[in-house]
Amino acid sequence: MTSSTVRTETPVYETDEPVTYAVEDATAWVMLNRPRYHNAQNAQMLYALDDAFRRAVDDPAVKVVVLGGEGKHFSAGHDIGTPGRDLSLTQDRRFLFPDHLDKPAAEFLYTREHEAYLGFCRRWREIAKPTVAMVQGGCIAGGLMLAWACDLIVASDDAFFQDPVLMMGIPGVEYWAHPFELPPRIAMEFLMLGERMPAATAHHYGMVNRVVSRDDLRAETASIAGKLAAKSGLGLWLTKQAINQAEDLRGKRAAMDAVYHMHHFAHAQNDLTAGSSIGHMDAKAMAAANKKQAGES
Ligand code: ZN
Repeated sequence: MTSSTVRTETPVYETDEPVTYAVEDATAWVMLNRPRYHNAQNAQMLYALDDAFRRAVDDPAVKVVVLGGEGKHFSAGHDIGTPGRDLSLTQDRRFLFPDHLDKPAAEFLYTREHEAYLGFCRRWREIAKPTVAMVQGGCIAGGLMLAWACDLIVASDDAFFQDPVLMMGIPGVEYWAHPFELPPRIAMEFLMLGERMPAATAHHYGMVNRVVSRDDLRAETASIAGKLAAKSGLGLWLTKQAINQAEDLRGKRAAMDAVYHMHHFAHAQNDLTAGSSIGHMDAKAMAAANKKQAGES
């Protein structure tokens, strides 16, 4: 798909509610709700997610926010091939960036991803209430970004984590936290081989807090949320800022800024050499490449 076809696409949405929101006790349960497409993230979903987080922040009765995904998988990543793919959707922008729609060449995607991918994930990392990701099944590429932006991650034992975007010639997703979430050499392997990392391995490296059975996932997440809800809200906010600040002092934010630009150099190179910012690796091609790789290993 070339940039020019991206700009003229007309998305067909399968739902008006790509994110659901419910408050139980003091916890807001924010659920990605495109199970038919394994919660692939289109702009419709990401802006709904931002709205849901705003709602949770604004409700004084909400002390904790859980982010989960309906269906078999937490999230297959950014939408690269469903009928609801909407790169050219005009949105009420949440940052003081220009609209991407009339931007030429590489500036189109650079501007769009600055807001909807990198910008949003950083914004959600700074939510002033504790956030818990509840992850089952696949947590792939853009899925990692959502889980990583949360404070704690609870995973089911069937969960797996993967960033396969090197198949597009790109050095990892836009919210580039890999060597902060994993030891650097493991992050190197994670990116270079692009293989699935099982929940148990992610737990071993400290990328997730708890691994439980699929049946216990919601109850365990609710239990942790309940414990958090009983604590000082301000204390928790300060604590998350403290950890985030320490990570930024270790270079997380600066590394992310640097790699965001490498990411977009790679998108531009794909466009120049193949006429597609993702090197024609849409959802179908990625699935086929994944299958081939799994067969080889
Ligand atoms: Zn990108």
